Amino acid sequence: MVVVSAVAVVALLGWARAREAVRSGERDAAELRARLDREERASERERAVQDLILRSMRDGILLVGGDGRTAYANPALETHLGGVPAGVGGLFPLALRTAVETAARTRRPETVEVEVNAPPRWLRGHAIPVDPDAVLLVVSDVTEARRLEAVRRDFVANASHELKTPVATIRAAAETLQRALREDPGAAPRFAAQLEHEALRLSRIVEDLLDLSRLEAGSELLERVRLDEVAGEEASRARVAAERGGVRLHVETPSPIVLRGSSRDLALLVRNLLDNAVRHTRPGGSVEVSVTRRDAEAVLRVADTGVGIPERDRERIFERFYRVDRARSRETGGTGLGLSIVKHVAENHGGRVEVTSELGVGSTFEVVLPIEDERA
Ligand code: ADP
Repeated sequence: MVVVSAVAVVALLGWARAREAVRSGERDAAELRARLDREERASERERAVQDLILRSMRDGILLVGGDGRTAYANPALETHLGGVPAGVGGLFPLALRTAVETAARTRRPETVEVEVNAPPRWLRGHAIPVDPDAVLLVVSDVTEARRLEAVRRDFVANASHELKTPVATIRAAAETLQRALREDPGAAPRFAAQLEHEALRLSRIVEDLLDLSRLEAGSELLERVRLDEVAGEEASRARVAAERGGVRLHVETPSPIVLRGSSRDLALLVRNLLDNAVRHTRPGGSVEVSVTRRDAEAVLRVADTGVGIPERDRERIFERFYRVDRARSRETGGTGLGLSIVKHVAENHGGRVEVTSELGVGSTFEVVLPIEDERA
């Protein structure tokens, strides 16, 4: 309605000016008609643009006049509230109505956040007094922003907790070492080794956290990367740990596979999958890594004959700090961040990770990535 009345004012002004022009004889009638036509077309265009903007906005817009009745509502408002109220009295949830009434009374902006059901969402209402006595209510869906905020809060709490444990152990080990140096120097090397072990764990967590925060900003997809070569190199690195744990490691990379991406991040992905496979496989078991082509996609497969992953945990193992067996993860030098890193790298490269597993039989992780177009 505001748009409509603005157009009416513009048109009236145009007419008034035109009449004045006729009286004073400044312009002839034909020129005047042409100008009026132009002005009318311009205001029609302006009205169409305003209408388009309001209709395509994701935020709901409700204009309540001084009489408390709805003067304008866009389609998004109807979506957010499940209908358009006839006036402020019919505005629900109640928190939105109170915000509009308060803004109308105090002539100051009011902001509220309210949870609604079916489907469950969080809405933010921003009521802004507009001249002369109307109120404009902007309603936004802030569910996703709130979810991300909660994830971030949880992450900070988890990270602090994960860091606190090795820090406390390091402090205790340092004190014990000092005492041992005074009272029992023979025991000192044992405490020094413990100190080093915990410091290493701490630095692994910090390194993984730094990798993760870098990966959250995306990977630089600048290089042509031979995924088969990356897998081969990482397998050579993992061989020492595998042999130490009595695990056989097989590599199968039958042909060159080229991706566009970051060799550093793809190496990180392979390293984490191999590290997990070796750590969760008992002596006598085996780990197989292969890179093959399936249609226009590269498939990196890391299969082990290890302990397996219970079905109920399979969805969650890619979450940060989620572990099936916390004690085992710690004991074997895990940080709980490895698979989260793997998932980020895969997604940054336009790919995905899939897992199949059977308890006591083994697990297979498949990373599917788009192949660089050979013609490019
Ligand atoms: P961690 O550092 O604890 O290995 P990850 O994020 O790499 O953390 O993995 C999360 C959890 O998923 C692990 O704690 C482990 O319980 C499970 N997991 C990952 N890979 C394997 C595997 N190959 N076999 C069995 N369990 C695995």
